[in-house]
Amino acid sequence: MSEIVGIDLGTTNSLIGVMDSGFPILIADNKGQRLTPSVVYFPERGEPIVGKAADRMRALYPERTVFSVKRLMGRRPGESDKADFPFRLNVLNGQTVVQVANQTLRPEEISSLILRKLKVDAEVALGYSVSRAVITVPAYFNDLQRQATKRAGERAGLEVERILNEPTAAALAYGLDRLRDRSRIAVYDLGGGTFDIYILELNDGLFRVLSTNGNTRLGGDDIDRELVRLLKERITARFPEVRPELEDRLFSARLREAAHDAKLKLSTEDMVLVEIPFLTKEKSFTYSLSRQELDSIARPIIRRTRGHCLRSLDDAKLDPRKLDEVILVGGVTRMPAVRQFVAEIFQRLPNVSQNPDEAVAVGATVQAGILSGEVQNIVLLDVTPLSLGIETFGGLMNVIIARNSTIPCKAGEVFTNAVANQTSMQIVVLQGERELAKDNWELGRFELAFEPGPKGMARVGVQFEIDADGILHVLARDIRTNREVIVDLTSAVNVTDEAVERMIAESLDHAFDDMSERVWTETVLKSNELLPAVRSALTLVGDQISDSEKEKIAALVTAVEKALESHTLSQLKKANTDLDEGTQLLATLLIDRAMAEAEQRKKGRVGLAEED
Ligand code: AMP
Repeated sequence: MSEIVGIDLGTTNSLIGVMDSGFPILIADNKGQRLTPSVVYFPERGEPIVGKAADRMRALYPERTVFSVKRLMGRRPGESDKADFPFRLNVLNGQTVVQVANQTLRPEEISSLILRKLKVDAEVALGYSVSRAVITVPAYFNDLQRQATKRAGERAGLEVERILNEPTAAALAYGLDRLRDRSRIAVYDLGGGTFDIYILELNDGLFRVLSTNGNTRLGGDDIDRELVRLLKERITARFPEVRPELEDRLFSARLREAAHDAKLKLSTEDMVLVEIPFLTKEKSFTYSLSRQELDSIARPIIRRTRGHCLRSLDDAKLDPRKLDEVILVGGVTRMPAVRQFVAEIFQRLPNVSQNPDEAVAVGATVQAGILSGEVQNIVLLDVTPLSLGIETFGGLMNVIIARNSTIPCKAGEVFTNAVANQTSMQIVVLQGERELAKDNWELGRFELAFEPGPKGMARVGVQFEIDADGILHVLARDIRTNREVIVDLTSAVNVTDEAVERMIAESLDHAFDDMSERVWTETVLKSNELLPAVRSALTLVGDQISDSEKEKIAALVTAVEKALESHTLSQLKKANTDLDEGTQLLATLLIDRAMAEAEQRKKGRVGLAEED
């Protein structure tokens, strides 16, 4: 048996598995259920309840039943859509927290309760204690969301050996690591509440994410909601007098469960009988629901994935016909209507060889087997979902590790001081695809003190290292003194997964404007360098040039100042070049003067030496 378990910590459902004699086995709880709803119910008294039993409480005690907490992992306050959740959200130390009665819970604490239940279920089934795990996360989860997931595992008593990207896990479960090199794979993942599409490429046994897109508010729950609406309509049509009962919480829970069960059955059957016994004391409701009727409700929801698929193909610069495989992930992809839709979009039949709601957990288990040495000959690497960098002069983003770099990886750059006698440098760590620092996500900031000196004299090396779990360590070192700081990003501002998706979309939408803004800022920086240099040269060697030369230079300086004021890029570029070229004589005189001074100093020193 493998010592390490694989865990799919899902938005809707979670699963745990272990390698047994070379095979990934998913573990059932004591009721024979392998899927554990990612739901936690906090009763007034006693321990929290996790899983199916908690899910049943959702309609009865909405303010005490926490679900979809994965959406809140690493979420920034203010971005939380309170209307979205029937339970209360709050802010504590700048973090979004869940408030259940007088208990304040961080999202990672709630996730850790789910993980703890999975751990205990596994221990009961296996008969030994489980302490090491591989946990999966969406590929677009940023550093903070990965760290929060890791901490949730640790709180649950699990040493997290690896944080693995979900599409990589899925591809592994489908055995796609055995495809020929450079194969391209689409992973279509439609779960309860989120949709993700990934295009992967296999390179030397490694999966690289070529592109990713999706929607964190789209999934099977939308189909359930529409189906409940349809059933309510049918009920009121048949029994107009029972209307008030429709608002009853218990009744809503029954209806939701009946709708959900019918949806699941219709993936394999053409017709189901929806039965709601004892609608009132005397009346029961039965309704024959056909797959066709369900499909007509589901189709507009499924079609909303279309744009995301096309965009990801576009981002990967890929014609769908060039794909080698399309794999399905998430329970909703069991629906024939979804499979048909996927086949149309990607112009090929999807691979249905795995249980789509178990594929990620199976892949995590295989990865656990690789780490514990039970499975050999597969090397797996992930990539960074977003670029990482620091803010530099003029508020620009300076990328240190580009998006889609294979991890683990390390990269660095040397920076200098912008002004004379600066005694410290503020390092602002950013994540995102935008050209301007302000449009990217700030992961953290810290100061590095260094020896004061003239402008451009300080040498500060900044190194980013992303470890195998996708966690970022930032090191900044004053090269002259070797003084260094390593940043702890845990107190940083969090970023939501929706925001990360949005970041990618926005960077594409604003690509043109961002680039012109960057070019403008760089041109302004050039002017800011030129103007004081010309002014100081005029003071030093101005007496050696003619009045007409001085006037010409003054006109060139005014041109730069005017262009700065009018904010016209082409004008400023030209004015900079003209000033640069128009002050060549000044530059030559300055050099001559510097050389003469150096000569003088040398002579002086010789003179002094001779006097000795
Ligand atoms: P997952 O994120 O994989 O746990 O997916 C959960 C979603 O898949 C929920 O909306 C389920 O209702 C849905 N689902 C699970 N099994 C089926 C099925 N057989 N047919 C249709 N939807 C399903």
